[in-house]
Amino acid sequence: MSCPNSDIIDSNPSPFIPTHPFAKAAGADTILRSSDGADFYVHHAILSLVSPVFETMFSLPQAESSPTVPNIDLQEGSATLDRVLRFFYPAAQPNVATLEELQDVIEVLMKYDMQCVIPMAKQHLEKYHSSRPLAVYAIACRYRWKDVAVAAARESLNHALRARLLADAPPDLEGVTAVAYHNLLQYHFRCGEAARSTTAQLRWFSWPTTLDYCRCNKTPVMFADDSYRQAPVWFSQYLTGVCDVLTVIPGSNVRETGTFYTTLWQNKCDRCCQFNFINFVTSQLPAQLKVEIDEIELRF
Ligand SMILES: [Zn+2]
Repeated sequence: MSCPNSDIIDSNPSPFIPTHPFAKAAGADTILRSSDGADFYVHHAILSLVSPVFETMFSLPQAESSPTVPNIDLQEGSATLDRVLRFFYPAAQPNVATLEELQDVIEVLMKYDMQCVIPMAKQHLEKYHSSRPLAVYAIACRYRWKDVAVAAARESLNHALRARLLADAPPDLEGVTAVAYHNLLQYHFRCGEAARSTTAQLRWFSWPTTLDYCRCNKTPVMFADDSYRQAPVWFSQYLTGVCDVLTVIPGSNVRETGTFYTTLWQNKCDRCCQFNFINFVTSQLPAQLKVEIDEIELRF
């Protein structure tokens, strides 16, 4: 098996020469030959330990004419095979540099049923959760990894998925079924609605009496039991602004929205200044948003 990326790498005219610990060495009892002809000297005990597929392969009787060190022809290219072996081999370090390379490695790990190596592959995937959540979600869908899908969906909340609906389909989502994509969009939408509701209706908020007696212009804000409180206009405007942002990007950092900085510079009366707005933005509101979003489940 070789993917387009490994084909590009493997078509390099310079032959790939395996290095330690896969160079020719005493003690190796098997040669894995890549599709482009590179020989990897390996120990079948190690391969059998991580892969029932290789274990079965090694248990098959060898022909009498077999060479002293039997070789096995594989469909994987040398670059991919090298990365896969370095993923679990003693005295080797994983050398995966991109998500695409990691994707190739995972494909081979799954092909040879190397389940004991999958947790490490998932750890490597974590590096891409925040930068490529859709690609990670696609991988999770392909292998039915719910834990990875949930983490990727959560990271997608830091992106404006709704806005992307107007653009071409993201290439990272290639191979994802319509149902799986729908589930992701639905999760994103529901989290956006939860975040909107959290900021539009302060049912969870312990209203500070200092705001009741403040001398600023007031406007109604929905509070507990669907009743309204008269909030200072600057505070209401902040809530409206952050609500708009969170509806589109539910994972937004409310400390970094433009509306936060605008609010900081607005005139406030002495009473207002006694209300710890910074604490509201940096602690109370983020904590409540987390509670609300934590309750929403991704269908998978
Ligand atoms: Zn005031």
